[in-house]
Amino acid sequence: MDIKRNVSVLQYNTFGIDVNAKYLASFKNEEDLKEILLSEEGKEKHQLILGGGSNILFTEDFDGLIIKNEIKGIEVIKETNDHVFVKAGAGENWHSFVLHCISNGYAGIENLSLIPGNVGASPMQNIGAYGVEIKDVFHELEAINRRTGDKQVFDNESCKFGYRESVFKNEYRNHFVITSVTYRLNKTHQFNVSYGAIEKQLQKNGVKELSLKAVSDAIIQIRESKLPNPKEIGNAGSFFKNPVITKDQFDRIKGNFKGIAHYQLPNGDIKLAAGWLIDHLGWKGKTIKNYGVHKNQALVLVNYDDASGSDIYNLSSEIIASVKEKTGITLEREVNIY
Ligand code: FAD
Ligand code: NAP
Repeated sequence: MDIKRNVSVLQYNTFGIDVNAKYLASFKNEEDLKEILLSEEGKEKHQLILGGGSNILFTEDFDGLIIKNEIKGIEVIKETNDHVFVKAGAGENWHSFVLHCISNGYAGIENLSLIPGNVGASPMQNIGAYGVEIKDVFHELEAINRRTGDKQVFDNESCKFGYRESVFKNEYRNHFVITSVTYRLNKTHQFNVSYGAIEKQLQKNGVKELSLKAVSDAIIQIRESKLPNPKEIGNAGSFFKNPVITKDQFDRIKGNFKGIAHYQLPNGDIKLAAGWLIDHLGWKGKTIKNYGVHKNQALVLVNYDDASGSDIYNLSSEIIASVKEKTGITLEREVNIY
């Protein structure tokens, strides 16, 4: 067991925020995790389970214990006529896992290509992109209760998945360390390419017959053309969630916002594109010293150099206030703040 003291977290978060953690420990298996949890440092009140650090913003030094999950391993645990059940260690890189599934012909997560981070965080906010969410293929996960050390299995229903939400972001926040996730992937390939610019990109690539790899490649190309690469510009993807409002609320505001991007949900509510609102209010591309709002995607806040997490947090508060003042809508942060 290796627990470091007073460590910079710079290399552990894609926003590129340089603060210190009082303690940082990593584990490659459940036994090591239990040893960490039982140690003196494991008694720290303030704890953070860390994956790839691509959905977090540190606003100050972390006065506690960061526990980095590095459990690896991918195995097929069951097959039926239609499905393959694939179990992956929480510390596996998400995109490498997607590519592994594609090369084996397992369908269902190709639209989630190139999302940074690790397998263990995929259920946390029910990761989603291009019309697919993890809940669509999620079978179960294993997690260790931080307080008791007991292992618990959560099925799809008990994760209470919602739009960028799960039980682990709410009532069980910080209670469990997810150690593995099992996905139910499809042997037959049904493609979901109606979302956004996928079809256009497939045409551009001259794709005549759809395949898992062709869809994944198209999504990778779209993402690379729009989103800042965290290795070059610090960011944590979409900083805000898309707000969902009632049809009545929408009818009241739509006259003031010509061309407002909106999508009707199956229950009749309306999902607005938060990026459209932020752009419309003039924030897109705005740069303050060494941080700002990305020039291609107004939902993404960026750290161009050595900005502090509190600078970025304060910018997000200004954007929330501005959207509230002009639309009456309160944007919620998607990124986890520490
Ligand atoms: P971290 O940032 O390390 O952790 C996030 C949260 O999960 C923290 O609260 C942490 O404590 C908790 N956590 C992590 N691992 C565990 C575990 N094993 N057990 C318990 N708790 C844990 N997200 C999307 O949904 N869709 C996208 O399309 C998308 N695109 C992105 C594009 C870019 C360029 C970037 C930078 C981010 C994007 N994201 C997207 C956000 C992010 O990549 C995902 O949410 C990802 O799943 C986070 O994984 P992570 O391992 O980096 O989690
Ligand atoms: P986009 O395609 O420009 O679309 C803008 C917004 O409109 C998205 O937020 C998306 O909502 C919504 N949208 C587009 N087409 C839709 C449709 N047919 N039906 C319903 N809603 C639709 O978005 P983008 O920024 O390039 O991102 C592409 C995808 O990657 C999106 O799904 C987005 O969520 C995901 N992404 C997520 C993050 C993150 O950090 N969470 C970062 C980058 C990209 P949804 O967001 O609900 O899909």
